[in-house]
Amino acid sequence: MAQPADIRPSLIGMDPAGLAAAVQAAGGKPFQARQLGQWLYGKRVADLAAMSNLPRGLREALAARFCTLTSTVIAREDSGEATTKLALRLADGLVIEAVLMREDEGDAPRYTACISTQAGCAMGCRFCASGRLGLKRHLEAGEILEQFFHMAALLRDEAKGEAPWLTNVVVMGMGEPLHNLANLLKALEVVNAEWGFHFGARRITVSTVGLPERIRELAQAGYQFNLAISLHATTDEQRTELIPTNKATGLSAILAAAADYFRATRREVTFEYTLVGGQNDTPKDAERLAALLLEFPRCNVNLIPMNPVEGSGLKEPTAEAVELFTRLLREAGVNVHVRRKRGRRVQAACGQLRLKLEAAPAQ
Ligand code: SAH
Repeated sequence: MAQPADIRPSLIGMDPAGLAAAVQAAGGKPFQARQLGQWLYGKRVADLAAMSNLPRGLREALAARFCTLTSTVIAREDSGEATTKLALRLADGLVIEAVLMREDEGDAPRYTACISTQAGCAMGCRFCASGRLGLKRHLEAGEILEQFFHMAALLRDEAKGEAPWLTNVVVMGMGEPLHNLANLLKALEVVNAEWGFHFGARRITVSTVGLPERIRELAQAGYQFNLAISLHATTDEQRTELIPTNKATGLSAILAAAADYFRATRREVTFEYTLVGGQNDTPKDAERLAALLLEFPRCNVNLIPMNPVEGSGLKEPTAEAVELFTRLLREAGVNVHVRRKRGRRVQAACGQLRLKLEAAPAQ
């Protein structure tokens, strides 16, 4: 698999001990490592040149040994005021995506970052644009975290007074997070830590295609992250049709691992269900889904009407099918939300902006 192009280790992702060692290697003092950590994680500033309380010599010595931001924003698409999608070019030229979603809930606005964990994806789900090119490579922990710095810059640019900061993080961008679990955990440690971005684990959601062993490893990592399982079907035959990896895993092993996750963390599991027209959106599907989930300890369902992906051969569900499916689940006592389609105009489904950029002629 390809490797990231910058061979200098990244300061982004280092814990306090790592930063102390880095600053020492560059000839600095322990208190300067704390200042560096403040800039990076407290102020979300990655540009060494802007770190005005560090002596210039130290900044230069750090820059010679370590990198910070290796990605750049190459495109931005807005859907009204609610959603902004960034396309980021990594040091080796690969393109990933990160999405900022804004929700105004009275005096407590929510800013949710949807972040990527891989360039491309190995899972090959039929309705997903990221699966098209297969997996290019895993993102390093620093590359996962860089997405936060780009979002911080975006929020700073558009703020009139003091810039707001993200309130929630969903790992639902490009890639299968649990396929890159080691780097994901390194990144989420920084996202969660008091010395890092300091998001409570309950504000962080990891979404997975459903890799049973990895779900258990995530539970053993000892955080209370929210877990979302991309279920999308109610029989193995139907699920394998949409999600090739289901052939090896199977529905029941995924449900068992998700139940173990609930028992280990006491966090309610979310099941995502992408409605595909004529494929998994019939009343019979709703009945089977309700029956499966009523046996599950505690969960809720997120229904996502499929975003059309060109060339997939799959159809969107009709509004009537979505409505009936939702009603049947509710009547059966399932806690269900329907995801609004606000990201559609900015190609907010997984990987779609990248597909569009790659289809466009080179500039
Ligand atoms: N690999 C992870 C996370 C990335 S996808 C996972 O499978 O969960 C995030 C969610 O968006 C998943 O539930 C995925 O199935 C869904 N999704 C992907 N493409 C979609 C599309 N075209 N329309 C609707 N939902 C889609």
